[in-house]
Formats: sequence, C-alpha cells, structure tokens
Amino acid sequence: ATPTALLVGTGRGSQLGILIRGPQVLEHTRRVDTIVLDKTGTVTEGAMSISAVHPTEGVSEQELLRIAASAEHGSEHPIARAIVDAVPAPPAAEDFLAHAGQGVQAIVEGRLVVAGRAGWLAEQWAMRVPADLTARIAADEAAGATVIVVAWDGEPRGAISVADTVKPHSAEAITRLRKLGLTPILLTGDNAGAAYAVAAAVGIDDVRSGMTPAGKLDAIRDLQERGQVVAMVGDGVNDAAALAAADLGIAMGTGTDAAITASDLTIVSGDLLVVPDAIRLARRTLGTIK
Ligand code: ADP
Ligand code: MG
Repeated sequence: ATPTALLVGTGRGSQLGILIRGPQVLEHTRRVDTIVLDKTGTVTEGAMSISAVHPTEGVSEQELLRIAASAEHGSEHPIARAIVDAVPAPPAAEDFLAHAGQGVQAIVEGRLVVAGRAGWLAEQWAMRVPADLTARIAADEAAGATVIVVAWDGEPRGAISVADTVKPHSAEAITRLRKLGLTPILLTGDNAGAAYAVAAAVGIDDVRSGMTPAGKLDAIRDLQERGQVVAMVGDGVNDAAALAAADLGIAMGTGTDAAITASDLTIVSGDLLVVPDAIRLARRTLGTIK
C-alpha cells in the first residue's frame, strides 16, 4: 500500500510515522472527542489462525478446508488468509466475488461456493444452518472466535473458526486516549462474542458488533448528529465509507488501499499508540499557531 497522502507539518509528525493528507487535518484532529475503532486489523493483529473446523455429516475436515481455501483465495481478508495458509494447493476458483463485511462467493470445481457470516447465508442466500452446527458456532463465538459458514450446492457444509490476537499496545493506547478526554467505541462486522472478548481485553465498554459497512457509516453519522466530533480508525475495505464520513479518518498503514485512500491520516506502522501521539501533536501544534 503506497499512500498518496502529503506529508506535512512538523518533523515530529514524520518521526511518529504519520502521513497527513493536508494541513486542514490538524484542525479536525484537535477537536475530536469520540474515537471509533474497527476491531480486526486495527485493535487486533488481523493475523488469524484456524482454531476449529466443524464439518457437517458426510464432509471431511480436509474437504471443507480445501473448498473454503479455493473460494477464499481471492480475498485479502484475514479470515481468508488463515484458511488459505492452512491448505497447500487448493483448486483454482472462478467468478470470485467478495462481499465486504459479509463473505465471499466463487465457483469451485463447477459448484457455487459461498463462505461467510451465518446471518448473511440465511438472509442473502436463504440457507438454513442446521441446529447442531448453529450450536457449535455459538459456543466458539462465545469463546471469542470468529466463525464462518461454508456452503456449496445450496447447503451449509460446515463452519471454520478462526482466532485473532490483540495487538500488544492496544490497551495502553485506549488508556491514553481516555486520558486525552476521548470516548472509545469498538465497531465491528464480527460477532458479539468476538467483539466483547476484544473490548474487555483493551478496556472499551461501548461495543457495536455485527455491523455491515453501511452500518458502520450510519454509526458515524449518528454520533455526528448528536454533536460529537468523531475520529474513525480502520484498515479494511469494509471501513472505507465510515473513514471517509468521519471528521477524522485514520487508516492503518498495514491495511488496504481503500482504507488509506479514504482517510485523512495514515499510521504507517499500524501501531495504535501513534493515535494519542497524533492527537497530542495536533493540539500542541495548533496551540502554538494560535
Ligand atoms: P471487522 O469489522 O471486524 O474488520 P469485517 O467487516 O471485515 O470485520 O467482517 C465481518 C464479518 O463478515 C466477518 O466476521 C465474517 O463473518 C464475514 N466476512 C468478511 N470477509 C469474509 C471473508 N473473506 N470470508 C468469510 N467471511 C467473511
Ligand atoms: Mg478491520
């Protein structure tokens, strides 16, 4: 990802590893009172690994993973990378399509494969997830995992659970943001179990889970309508609309081009501790100008 953003301001700004789109950004940075954080890849590493595989009857774990890896091959989502990394040579897929914040679809060996959120399979594809699989999904989600359902030939064939880790500096960053007077909110397309596990680990109590990209955008607008000045920190394609709408969009330099392009400010290293540093810097810089 090569941000086209203009690097301006003080030498301190570049020392911090912040790319700023223009001088007007500092004014927004200074006035922010609410900070909305995406979960996956922002508060967490976004480096997921498979924690459980739940095939339905008649399907082997290996087959479930092989088909899923093929369908996920074209996705840059951390869930996709976890699955693809677990399979040495998945078959080639055709007609791949990614649905941001929902899942993927592709043709694998002549069959339509759909992989994504259980709710999305139900609503968008009218597929019914069997009760025993639903129970296994619920148990893994309650334990903090992210679970996707894999379906082909119109039937759910199993679920794959993946686990992520919180970045080492995330909790300290939240503490420092609170000290600067900012209210943190966790916003994620992931399930409530995974969202609350991460929120508890970093000290956030306002959690909104199961949000589509459009839902994330609405959440930002709602806060703004209530008079709050909102910063949004994100890394995904699914965050781009929310990042663009926020008073201050902050992208992780480790994230997607879509997120970086939509943002005012890019944290090159992806280290959340740079966010409170940037806010302090903006407040100080403008303090001396005025
Ligand atoms: P977050 O807000 O935590 O970054 P996303 O909006 O990217 O999460 O994803 C929300 C949910 O959509 C995921 O938890 C998953 O269930 C589903 N999803 C997104 N991308 C994929 C994918 N490539 N494959 C399967 N499921 C996906
Ligand atoms: Mg993300």
